[in-house]
Amino acid sequence: MTNTRGIDPIVKDKDAKCFPGIFAVMKSFDVPIIYRSPLITAIKKKRKEQDRMKKDFTPTLLDLGSLQIYLARHFGFCYGVENAIEIAFRTVEENPGKRIFLLSEMIHNPQVNADLQSHGVQFMQDNYGKQLISFDELTADDIVIIPAFGTTLELEKKLKELGIQTEKYNTTCPFVEKVWNRSEQIAKKNYTIIIHGKPKHEETRATFSHAAANAPSVVVKDMQQAIELAKYIKGEKPAEQFYEEFKGQYSENFDVTRDLERIGVVNQTTMLASDTQAIADHLKQVMIEKYKLTTENVDERFADTRDTLCYATLENQQAVSGMLKTDADLAIVVGGYNSSNTSHLVELCEEKLPTYFINSEEKILSATEILHFNFHTKEELLTTSFLPTKKQVKVLITSGASCPDALVEGVINKLTSFFPVNKTTAELISKL
Ligand code: SF4
Repeated sequence: MTNTRGIDPIVKDKDAKCFPGIFAVMKSFDVPIIYRSPLITAIKKKRKEQDRMKKDFTPTLLDLGSLQIYLARHFGFCYGVENAIEIAFRTVEENPGKRIFLLSEMIHNPQVNADLQSHGVQFMQDNYGKQLISFDELTADDIVIIPAFGTTLELEKKLKELGIQTEKYNTTCPFVEKVWNRSEQIAKKNYTIIIHGKPKHEETRATFSHAAANAPSVVVKDMQQAIELAKYIKGEKPAEQFYEEFKGQYSENFDVTRDLERIGVVNQTTMLASDTQAIADHLKQVMIEKYKLTTENVDERFADTRDTLCYATLENQQAVSGMLKTDADLAIVVGGYNSSNTSHLVELCEEKLPTYFINSEEKILSATEILHFNFHTKEELLTTSFLPTKKQVKVLITSGASCPDALVEGVINKLTSFFPVNKTTAELISKL
């Protein structure tokens, strides 16, 4: 397998300050070259040179005459994904002849997961924790890779009991571990942990497991659930109802009358920033009103956790907001259909203009037809006449944190093929 080295450092100085132990040194990763795109790499390099502090969220214009493509300032592989891919492919290279398992999909990208499977890696669980391969089949000789989302303490224990060493093959993203650390800090101060996340998502299940080991914990999936939870805090709903309403989302022995008196909120790292803020603000206000607190003493009941979204989620969402200032005809968001961070980028774009969520250029069937995913209804739809017939068409493009840049270049090339464009990729790069 051909690998490449020397990718631009992904983590900002700011991150290095936040996590001195982890990011004191800028890091680059070995990622299979098939995931890279010469065009996108050149664009990202140029933008980074022009804007080292990452303050400029305007998109990059690829001026192709009758087709104008606006690429978001930030998109594609994040630190955690590159780290996970590097470890996984290195594990394959270093362990010929060994059986290699992944606890679940390593990241939410079908191409990367399929590539790993084609190298013999087997997935033990599906995205929702359903067992595909029994743990009884494992032996101490096997290798089990922990995905970027992390895993539960229960699964870690099970693997240890089977004699399987996971430390060397643990791809848990440091930004997920940061959430676990934050939970532990507030648990030590006797706050109950409210986790804003998708209850069935691997990362939220892992975070819940780590949080629940230290403090009573409950998951809220959205603002609606936060509002309902607040009604139990205020005593507006009968306590017994909580256990049915939040079934599968609270820790063992959770006592709704006792355990919501002091709370702190952490997040799944990939949630929508505005939702995360709104949920924390709402619960904070409820505690202020219920316990007649002021902003000075609110921390008696509400832990100031700030949000625990990761840098990539924030940057990619800010870049989409910057991109949406451009008056365009449509947006294309590229990424895995089960990718949480990608679906939030889609959500932002949908508010403004027709948006097509696709997982590869193959979904663009022709100049008139596109197969795209509706993440609200979880179905793929066929839309016709998705490209307007006008003199100049403007398309916004971004991708999720687990999407290879090569896929985005594929989408650009496919779109370009429908227009009388006579610029090559090399010419585009030279014009940057
Ligand atoms: S999206 Fe954030 S938390 Fe998830 S793997 Fe990437 S950097 Fe880590």
